[in-house]
Amino acid sequence: MKLEIFTSSPLQTKKLGEMLAEEILKGKSGKKALVIGLVGELGGGKTTFLQGFAKGLGIKEKILSPTFVIMKRFGDFYHLDCYRIQKTKDILGLGFKEIINNPKNIVAIEWADKISSLLPKNIILIKFEVIDEDKRSIVLTVNAV
Ligand code: ADP
Ligand code: MG
Repeated sequence: MKLEIFTSSPLQTKKLGEMLAEEILKGKSGKKALVIGLVGELGGGKTTFLQGFAKGLGIKEKILSPTFVIMKRFGDFYHLDCYRIQKTKDILGLGFKEIINNPKNIVAIEWADKISSLLPKNIILIKFEVIDEDKRSIVLTVNAV
C-alpha cells in the first residue's frame, strides 16, 4: 500500500505521526519488532513526525534530533538516527539485531536508507519531501505480506 499525504504545517505532520501510532497500538502483532524507516532530506520533517508519533504512543518525553546519539530508548520505543553512521557495524554494536527481533519493540529509524542492508523486509517506509517552506509530501509505503 502506498499513500501520499501533504501537510502544510509542523503540527499537521505531528498529528499524522500521532494517528499512525494510535493505529499501530490498535493492531500491533507479529514475531518481530515493528520497524518504521524514515527517509528524505534534512528538514523534511522526520523528527517532527516522530514527536507526534511518540505522543501517540503515550510517551511524555520530548523527542529531539539525536545530534550526538545514534539511538535513544523510551521504554519499548526506540528512536534511531543514522545520519552520522559510517559503517553498518556502528549500529550492530548497539544491539540492533536484538532490538528489531523483540516483538515488544517499536523502532523508528531516521535515515533508514543508510542501513538498508540491515532492515527487515516488512517495514513501514515513510518518505519526506520538502515542497515549500511549510508544505511537505509524506509518502507511506506498507508492504502487506
Ligand atoms: P528532519 O528530521 O527530517 O531533518 P525536522 O523534523 O527536524 O526534519 O525539521 C523539519 C523542519 O521543517 C522544522 O523546522 C519544522 O518546523 C519545519 N516544517 C515546516 N513545515 C513543516 C511540515 N509541514 N511538516 C514538518 N515540518 C515542517
Ligand atoms: Mg531528524
